[in-house]
Parts: sequence; structure tokens; C-alpha cells
Amino acid sequence: MSTAPVRLSIVIPVFNEEPNLPTLFARLYPVLDSLGRRYEVIFTNDGSADRSFALLSAQHAARPDVTRVIDFNANYGQHMAIMAAFEKVRGEVVVTLDADLQNPPEEIPKLLALIDAGHDYVGGFRLKRQDSFFRTFASKLINYVRSRTTSIEMTDQGCMLRAYRRPIIDAVVRSGAINTFIPALAYTFASNPGEVGVQHDERLAGVSNYSFYKLIRLNFDLITGFTLAPLQLFTMLALACAGGSFLLVLVLAYRRLFLGAEAEGLFTLFGILFFLLSVCMVGIGLIGEYVGRTYLVVRSRQRYHVREVIEAKE
Ligand code: UDP
Ligand code: MG
Repeated sequence: MSTAPVRLSIVIPVFNEEPNLPTLFARLYPVLDSLGRRYEVIFTNDGSADRSFALLSAQHAARPDVTRVIDFNANYGQHMAIMAAFEKVRGEVVVTLDADLQNPPEEIPKLLALIDAGHDYVGGFRLKRQDSFFRTFASKLINYVRSRTTSIEMTDQGCMLRAYRRPIIDAVVRSGAINTFIPALAYTFASNPGEVGVQHDERLAGVSNYSFYKLIRLNFDLITGFTLAPLQLFTMLALACAGGSFLLVLVLAYRRLFLGAEAEGLFTLFGILFFLLSVCMVGIGLIGEYVGRTYLVVRSRQRYHVREVIEAKE
């Protein structure tokens, strides 16, 4: 086995990707072999229910010097799967990639070219996105919200084909973040971020692992994880409502004193009351998002549990 330092680590989260893994192996390894730098590939099996883990183990047996497999006992989500691999990377440069071949492995050299040119963070953006209209639209919307509320500037936050210099990865791991969106977190540690357009294909087989619910969770992680803007926006709204209600009280008091009591306005009042109540509920929900996260950090719960790591001894 070579004793040269590992120069490149490829990190791939895997959740029920059994039909895609053979093609992934067949396309990924030749690209990496042709780079002429020592590399490793770290797969995290994120609690797959299919034979993904068996395929990953077989791949480790076939290429033990360059393949490492982390096996989670349960499903902790894509970003935690990536985080577990980040804790173990040995390479000077780290590239993340999806296992479903939506990010063509053939695009990796593009990212590396920008890293070699001096960037410490290279984000891919999908040139022609191959996802459903709903996903693309929701993504655009959240991209807009993010760009307006945080100082994170990226064309396509959802693209997981990205390259990072090692110090950034180490900072991400040290941050101990639990609910997080890795591309955005890493961005906050970058000093010279760059971007490059990459191909995007349709999922080779199977369907997206992101349910509507999981997508909402993820985007809450993105927005609440990096900005207090929603909370501040709510405070502003609450202030405006309080001001409006105060004026209303003044108007009603005036009418009562000088024009006499009126019963017809009762239902308007109900309407206003319900509206204010709904504003309160939204606010409580938002506060809950932050409190929930604080709670998770405070009780310093384990982020995930690794059942087994299969890799060659260094
Ligand atoms: N993934 C994971 N854990 C999950 C969901 C997804 O490790 O709970 C992996 C999945 O195997 C794939 C990547 O994350 O490699 C992206 O997932 P997917 O293709 O389902 O998401 P989409 O492309 O629809 O955003
Ligand atoms: Mg996908």
C-alpha cells in the first residue's frame, strides 16, 4: 500500500441505493484512478433497508486500499451521514457527491481544478436541473429567502457536488452542529469560495429519499441554522400588530364615548381577534424552532451511532 498522503477524499451518503451502487462504482473509480492522486472513498450507509450495505462491503473487499464504509445503525439523514464521514476523512481535499448518480462523477475534476487554482471551497451549481417542477420551484424560493436573510452567497444550495479544503471540513466537524445544512455551514468557514456549473442527471433508479416532510425539516435547518431573521421578522410583525390594535382600541373608545355603543362591529372584532391569535401561533411555532435546536445542543446528545467501520488499517 502506498504511504503517500491521501490527497483526495470522496464522501458519499447512501440510503437505499442498491440499484444505483453498481453503476456508481463503475463510473466513479475510473475517474478517480485517472486523477493520479492518492484518494479514498468514504461511504456512509445511513440505515438502508435494502442490500446497500452488502454492496458497499463487497466494494470494500474489491478495493480495500481506497474504500471505507461507515455503517449507521439507523437513518440519521443525508447531512449527518456526510458529517460522520467528515470526522474520518484523511484527504487534503474533500468532495461530496450523491449516490444516485444525479451528480456525475465525471464532473469531479472540474471542482478539483478550482481547488488547485486556490479556492478553499468550490460549490457546484446544476446547469440543467433534472428534478420535478415542485422541487425546482421550492428550491428557487428557499434560495431567494436564504440570499435575502443570510450572508451566504451561492447559486445553488441544494447541489451536493462540492469540494472543500481540509481545514474547512475540520472546522465543520469541530462546530459540533446537529441540525445543519453542510454546504451553508462550510461556506461560513471559507475564505475564498468559488463556483462551477456541473451536469445534473435524473436519478438513475428509485425515487428521491426526500419526502415533503423531510424537505421542510431540511429547509428549516437551513434558515434557522444561519439566521435569526424569521424571529426578527416576527418581532416586527408583532410590533406592527400591537400598534394597529392600540389604534383600534382608541377608535373604539372614541366611538363608545361620543357616538354610543354599537353591536354591529362585534364580528369584525372576532375577525381581528382570530387574526391576532393566528399571528401568535405562528410566532410560538417559530420560537419553538429555535428552542428545539438549543435543547438539542444543550443536552449534547450523540449525533448518530456508528455500528461498524470497514476500512484498511493505515
Ligand atoms: N440520503 C441519505 N440519507 C437520507 C436521505 C438521502 O444518506 O435520509 C442520501 C441518498 O442516498 C443520496 C443523497 O443522500 O445519495 C441524496 O438523496 P436523494 O437523491 O434522495 O435526494 P434528492 O436528490 O432528491 O435531493
Ligand atoms: Mg437525488
